[in-house]
Amino acid sequence: MKNSTIKDIKKINEIINRSDICHIGMIDLEGLPYVLPFNFGFKNNTIYIHTSREGKKADIFDKKPYVCLTFSTDYELFHRHEHVACSYGWRYRSVIGYGKIIPIEDFEDKKEVMNIIMKKYTDKEFDYNPPSINNVAIFKIELDKIEGRESGY
Ligand SMILES: Cc1cc2nc3c(=O)[nH]c(=O)nc-3n(C[C@H](O)[C@H](O)[C@H](O)COP(=O)(O)OP(=O)(O)OC[C@H]3O[C@@H](n4cnc5c(N)ncnc54)[C@H](O)[C@@H]3O)c2cc1C
Repeated sequence: MKNSTIKDIKKINEIINRSDICHIGMIDLEGLPYVLPFNFGFKNNTIYIHTSREGKKADIFDKKPYVCLTFSTDYELFHRHEHVACSYGWRYRSVIGYGKIIPIEDFEDKKEVMNIIMKKYTDKEFDYNPPSINNVAIFKIELDKIEGRESGY
């Protein structure tokens, strides 16, 4: 099965934009891996997430902010011979990124980020009341290193 690295940043950005969710991998406070799925927004090489202020991930983001993210899309199961298991495979496109997770505290910046996230999923922008912005934690991850791959295309 053809498996190739994607170097074109425009193509990498398209894969991120077409992905419904990202998985964020971190190292927990006991030194063990911890991976969670998130909805996200993406703009100018930066991933944005919104979340609650409490919980396991909030403690990790605070104390161990280096994370690895994965995105994937365009899945398709195919086979060469219907009755031969090892001829089955998946077409997919995926991206891995690395970066440091940083909180965003400014009220207007948080509103802007919420609209980046909401626009991805609804294609709309919204107004927000102060508690809905104040009660949510918003983080950005500028992607330091990014790698793309496609398989079966
Ligand atoms: C498609 C999808 C999109 C999501 N988008 C977001 C988002 O945008 N923002 C957001 O904050 N959260 C999102 N979540 C939920 C997120 O993945 C976490 O479950 C949630 O944020 C709680 O994480 P925590 O570390 O604070 O867990 P805590 O509430 O502190 O719980 C800790 C324990 O619960 C278990 N646990 C935590 N999460 C899960 C889980 N998802 N499944 C099974 N066990 C779990 C772990 O074993 C952990 O030890 C999404 C989940 C899915 C499936």
